[in-house]
Amino acid sequence: MERAPIRKGPFPGNIEPNLQDYAKVRAEFSWEAIRGELDGLPDNMGLNMAHEAVDRHATGPRAQKAAMRWLGKDGTVLSLSYCQLMEMSNRFANALRELGVAKGKRVFVLTGRIPPLYITALGTLKHLSVFCPLFSAFGPEPIYQRLARGDAKVLVTTEPLYGQKVAGLRTRLPGLKHILLTDAGDHTGSGVWSLEKLMCAVSPQYTIPPTDPEDMAILHFTSGTTGMPKGAVHVHDAVCTHYMTGKYVLDLHPDDVFWCTADPGWVTGTSYGIIAPLVCGVTSVVDESDFEPERWYRILEAEKVSVLYTAPTAIRRLMRMDMEPRRKVGLDQLRLIHSVGEPLNPEAVLWGQRVLGLPIHDNWWQTETGGIMIANFPSVDIRPGSMGLPVPGIEAAVAHRPDADTLVLIEAPNVQGELVLKVGWPSMFRGYLHEKERYRKCFAGGWYVTGDLVRRDEDGYFWFVGRADDVIKTSGQLVGPFEVERVLMEHPAVVEAAVIGKPHPMFGEVVKGFICLKTGIEPSDALRLEILGFARKRLGAVVAPKELQFHHNLPKNKAGKIMRRLLKAREMGLPEGDTSTLEGRE
Ligand code: ATP
Ligand code: MG
Repeated sequence: MERAPIRKGPFPGNIEPNLQDYAKVRAEFSWEAIRGELDGLPDNMGLNMAHEAVDRHATGPRAQKAAMRWLGKDGTVLSLSYCQLMEMSNRFANALRELGVAKGKRVFVLTGRIPPLYITALGTLKHLSVFCPLFSAFGPEPIYQRLARGDAKVLVTTEPLYGQKVAGLRTRLPGLKHILLTDAGDHTGSGVWSLEKLMCAVSPQYTIPPTDPEDMAILHFTSGTTGMPKGAVHVHDAVCTHYMTGKYVLDLHPDDVFWCTADPGWVTGTSYGIIAPLVCGVTSVVDESDFEPERWYRILEAEKVSVLYTAPTAIRRLMRMDMEPRRKVGLDQLRLIHSVGEPLNPEAVLWGQRVLGLPIHDNWWQTETGGIMIANFPSVDIRPGSMGLPVPGIEAAVAHRPDADTLVLIEAPNVQGELVLKVGWPSMFRGYLHEKERYRKCFAGGWYVTGDLVRRDEDGYFWFVGRADDVIKTSGQLVGPFEVERVLMEHPAVVEAAVIGKPHPMFGEVVKGFICLKTGIEPSDALRLEILGFARKRLGAVVAPKELQFHHNLPKNKAGKIMRRLLKAREMGLPEGDTSTLEGRE
């Protein structure tokens, strides 16, 4: 059952969107024109992400503007201007030079969301080393895996994290030469340095070396939702996508205060938590703390956040609270909310409209795509439950892949198939590190095959069906998990749902659902039957879940994604596979 579209305009705050006419912008779009809106290094010395993010603003009228507003766990608030961010990242680049860290070498960061993370990222990009962010909540093994596979040369971390998680790994990591501690007063030898001392000893001036747009810039591991995380390689040219999507999708305007709630350990927190807002020259809010609804509402009000970019998990947790935020906090300045990472159920889009006064704009992308590829735009009507339309410069299609080298595009609307993207956008990953063959297999006939199943309706809107790995085969029919999950989430008692295919001797698989209930609602057999009946009425007997299990929390990884493969392994009594990215709370 599809919901009525949400019609757009007039726009909150009367701010006209950057993209007003989707068809026109798409038709006239060229990446060259986008490059032209960026600065480029002086004297045609190439394109460097950090120059576009910081230096070009720091040497212009935005020099004293707050680039970043950092909100510490203990209540500290730190504003860094574009000029300060330039000087600090210059110092970090100089520190790398002093240590003899060369172009292309990997600089990992394991710190939590504190200012040195952001300074390190930008300084690393300036020095043409490669920025590799990690979640600070990772345990020693996932840290080891990534440092080893990523050929870490430098690690920026804190004293406690080093002591608890890294010191014991060093003998297994002979290539890891330098540990830079953000909170140490002094160098302690064995390649363990005080970051502050190193940075104080070098100049705040740094000239970015000539940068080929194809130079490696970022190594980002995928979230590990479907298996072992892959190391996706990105280049400096990706900044064109960051800028373009910041402008047209996030709709950043000069006076915006933007808050991307993601941790840089997840690609959203890097592309949109660090690079895009700076490239667009706005003020970016960074909160050190983890999700907490009351705190979030307070930040939105106190920081006057105008554009929020978050994830379905967080939105559903706010929904679960059933608060009336507009009565308690001033959200007048908030004009846009975006979401990414998981399918956003129509209920959540409409909840935004009802409770926050703004619909939630879903968009789709992956670590591999480096930036937003399909989106709901501020000026385009929203079809709740749809991921939206391809962004300018991106050709998206639905396809079958009968064999590894063949791709057959599906022209007819509303047919399920794999989402594919025409090769050649700037932020496309340039490899899976050390996995050439795996990378090659992602491409066929000039298209990148995403591994996600979708359908496209007659007006070109894309609808997420499920990951190809998660699709359920029951009674000869292919069932996309999201189709079932969104219906379960329409039941007033259900706030979150995941479904899997459970092997069955007669039907191949049957659909099994796992659900979380709204705060205050108790699980019972009667409620289970009611929800099963509710789903059957809407989905029909074949597609509807046959079994339903209540969960307090569904297993999620650190990017907040539900790990269906884990639910399935547990259901079948099989080994759980790589659980290194699993969130602690379950
Ligand atoms: P791994 O590749 O290691 O299994 P992952 O795919 O979860 O992990 P990411 O690159 O962080 O790693 O996530 C991208 C995936 O998240 C997409 O391929 C898609 O399955 C899902 N996703 C992202 N945004 C959306 C969205 N708006 N709607 C539905 N699914 C989404
Ligand atoms: Mg993936």
